[in-house]
Amino acid sequence: MCGIFGIFNHKDAANIVYLGLHSLQHRGQESAGIVSTNGHTMVGHRDMGLVSDVFQEAELKKLQGTSAIGHVRYSTAGSTTLSNAQPLLVEYSKGFIAIAHNGNLTNAKVIKDELENYGSIFQSTTDTEVIIHLIALSHENTTLDRLISALKRIEGSYSLIILTNKELIAVRDPYGFRPLVLGKLKNSFVVSSETCAFDLIEAEYLREIEPGEIIHITKDGLKTIKPFKKTSPKYCVFEYIYFARPDSFMFGRTVYTVRKAMGRELAREAYIDADMVIPIPDSGIGAAIGYSQETHIPFELGLIRNHYVGRTFIEPEDSIRHFGVKLKLNGIRDTVKGKRIVVIDDSIVRATTGRKIIKMLRRYGAKEIHFRVSSPPTTHPCFYGIDTPSRKELIASSHALAEINKYMGSDTLAYLSIEGIKRAIGNNDISFDYSFCDACFSGKYPLKFPWGMELEQMELFVKR
Ligand code: AMP
Repeated sequence: MCGIFGIFNHKDAANIVYLGLHSLQHRGQESAGIVSTNGHTMVGHRDMGLVSDVFQEAELKKLQGTSAIGHVRYSTAGSTTLSNAQPLLVEYSKGFIAIAHNGNLTNAKVIKDELENYGSIFQSTTDTEVIIHLIALSHENTTLDRLISALKRIEGSYSLIILTNKELIAVRDPYGFRPLVLGKLKNSFVVSSETCAFDLIEAEYLREIEPGEIIHITKDGLKTIKPFKKTSPKYCVFEYIYFARPDSFMFGRTVYTVRKAMGRELAREAYIDADMVIPIPDSGIGAAIGYSQETHIPFELGLIRNHYVGRTFIEPEDSIRHFGVKLKLNGIRDTVKGKRIVVIDDSIVRATTGRKIIKMLRRYGAKEIHFRVSSPPTTHPCFYGIDTPSRKELIASSHALAEINKYMGSDTLAYLSIEGIKRAIGNNDISFDYSFCDACFSGKYPLKFPWGMELEQMELFVKR
């Protein structure tokens, strides 16, 4: 996962991108970068860390010019190193080009091997660099045509923002896995992964960039083309469940509204009598409110999150991830003592979070703990840009509900069904056309990928 943002034709381009990236920080915390152009040359700055750490006044001052793009990164392909931080910026025979990518290219390795056989030298291990090489190798006349010829060889998920000295290009792959929206800030066009960034800079939201659409912005205005074969969209359902910010408007609905609806559906499918509903903050809050509204069981804050620790999962180091749960959340003893509690989270991946929370709540005197999950069991890894681990690390890929319940230490455990997800997203409208990728739950991958999946079992009940 990553967040991308761009602006064309604004006197404070880099500063606006800096603000935009702030709003997209939840989409990636490993590295941040901005590239800007003054129409003649391009400069960039990128580093490891949060947007506010990477950019101080001095860095932003160097990023002169009237157009800029930026990126926050959370690695799903390639390692966590500075050379993989984006936007990638290169100068090739046709001039400067910078690229910011959210997604995951499933055939990048095949293309990279092929290009390296012909002598290409790669500077990073990101899949994104493949696009740059293909653009540089293309014999087409314009950047736009070179890009189209490159993308016709690419498979997988990509929302891209590309910048040259003359143009800003925004692209969404034909399935539209990852979000990308278009807005206007006075006379400037802005492009962002999520609308929450537009709210901050007070830009007007125009629309989503459509799956398979390329938007080409120059000093002459905005043009749109759709050069790919039309396919039915496959928006990422996990954006609604976990990844996107609740205040963003995405795939036609506000994320918070969808999360609450998921909680209501969960209450209908898996009601249990209890004294209170508590979310695992922040990701479980929307669903817990929905569950509480539907059941009339009071909503309480039984767990408090320390906001100065990054998202546990986002730290690629295993040791930090396990430590992180304890660093991040603490229960309120007085609230939970002697109570029958419904604990809500948006998803279970390895079951690390739930298991530790349940242990803590029991230590603090909770009488009953009923774990409810506002998505179906995550049984399959994502190859389209969400960092779900390999199958063997996904607890639900190899363990039944009763085993997971026992492992977590809950009294009861229930997940929301896929049908429940569909009802929640469709707002119970029967004519609603469900056009989402839910491969992480169903194993139905919209695209083939060139490697096999391991089916090893995750070992339970070992000390971790
Ligand atoms: P786990 O503790 O391994 O079961 O992970 C579940 C927790 O991680 C839940 O609280 C989710 O909100 C969160 N989560 C789920 N998927 C992801 C992801 N791809 N990246 C970061 N966090 C995630």
